[in-house]
Amino acid sequence: MERTAQCHCGQLRVIATGEPERVYACHCKACQRRTGAVIHNGSSWPKSQVRVEGEHKIYGRMADSGFEIRFHFCPNCGSSVFWEGDRNPTTCGIAVGAFADPDFPAPTSSGWEESMHRWLGLPPGAAHFPQSRS
Ligand SMILES: [Zn+2]
Ligand SMILES: [Zn+2]
Repeated sequence: MERTAQCHCGQLRVIATGEPERVYACHCKACQRRTGAVIHNGSSWPKSQVRVEGEHKIYGRMADSGFEIRFHFCPNCGSSVFWEGDRNPTTCGIAVGAFADPDFPAPTSSGWEESMHRWLGLPPGAAHFPQSRS
């Protein structure tokens, strides 16, 4: 299976083949501010299954893990579409919302619930973590 994630303007495209290793939700305040959404949904993929087309800029910061994480965003419209970091050099993350696919697999874990918006519901069966899942 091939899926395409793209930025708001469509200039930056990320094509993923096969299935994601993991699909998760994150409620941390950094993700809230980065996305402008109350919840971030991420998918993890082996880099070998992912192809990037288009221009992208990078914003890097230290994650709670102590490793740098780098968010790749469109220089034209600013959407953050994918990320990678030093903690897991062989995998990258793709924003689930950037696929705009209602049939994308649901998250199986939910992290940083201590800053979760109180009204938000999650799929049954998701594992819950007050902070990072690790
Ligand atoms: Zn764009
Ligand atoms: Zn987060």
